[in-house]
Amino acid sequence: MSVSVLAARADEYLGHVLLDDPVFATEQRAWAADLTRNTPEAFSIELGDDGTTIDGDTGLARATLRVRWKMPGAGERHVSFPARFVRRDGRWLYAGRAWERLEVPGLVVLYADGLDRAARNVAEVMPEIMAHVHEGFEIAPHPDRVQQIKMYRSMRELQFSIYPSYTQSLSGWNEPGESIKLLTGPGAGGRQLRALLAHEYGHVASFLLGEKMNEAPWWVLEGVAELASEHVGRSSRATDRLMRRFARDGNLADWDAISDFHTVEPALTPMVYVQGHHMLGYISERIGRNGRNRWLRAMAQGLSLDEATREALGMPFADLDRQWRESLSTPDDG
Ligand SMILES: [Zn+2]
Repeated sequence: MSVSVLAARADEYLGHVLLDDPVFATEQRAWAADLTRNTPEAFSIELGDDGTTIDGDTGLARATLRVRWKMPGAGERHVSFPARFVRRDGRWLYAGRAWERLEVPGLVVLYADGLDRAARNVAEVMPEIMAHVHEGFEIAPHPDRVQQIKMYRSMRELQFSIYPSYTQSLSGWNEPGESIKLLTGPGAGGRQLRALLAHEYGHVASFLLGEKMNEAPWWVLEGVAELASEHVGRSSRATDRLMRRFARDGNLADWDAISDFHTVEPALTPMVYVQGHHMLGYISERIGRNGRNRWLRAMAQGLSLDEATREALGMPFADLDRQWRESLSTPDDG
């Protein structure tokens, strides 16, 4: 695995991974795909000798993985976590982290040691959150669909699970076909946990609208997720107050500057969420929930932002943007 990583040979790396679980397979493909964009200059994996078990009869093994790596121009990083291996055709394949597991209908919660209570809290509130988000986006996922949630205790391990070059701080993560990944402590619960889950499930729901959703501008994707969590997270009123202040101070972002996940200036990252949320709310007010969902679905099916805006609102995006900016400088009517 280390040799494949250092040579940025994604397919060769994936040849060492058990890809039976489509969610883990999607995560590992994304992990490997980043190697060609960002190749580590050092990467090593060691098996710890504590708690190693190998069962030759079942072909299952477990061991602590200690991974050390270094990206060009950055310091060395390391993580260690319990990992599973499965023997297939005489070879041991990496099967990911050895998780604790909790299941309820429609949901599998995989969690790190010590997060039992937080995992129960997730399993308890998630069905209601999912139902709320389905209603908001007018979707009805297949009744057999099972949402996977992975709960990490370590920021570094969560970052590493995305790909070795990932360094931004985060509390949650979701990409098409991947699990919802959360960073939580043992006591996670209450409103803060519900807001995090609703945000991440908002991403899941948006990806269910169509295969091209992830190609929409980043502010659309985060605006959708913020909209999905506004009933428990930052309210639309709070967002409106913030945006009116930004407008007054001349601090609105250009949409192009908050559109590409890979190039947005770190200082503008908060605007991806706040300004995106506000525009999603503005569109919802103008053409209703159904119209907004039509706008989103158009992008999810491959239309550009401008094309989707012409289709759902009957105007180019530049006109919508102008009217939105005007609305921010007129007195708040409610
Ligand atoms: Zn998000």
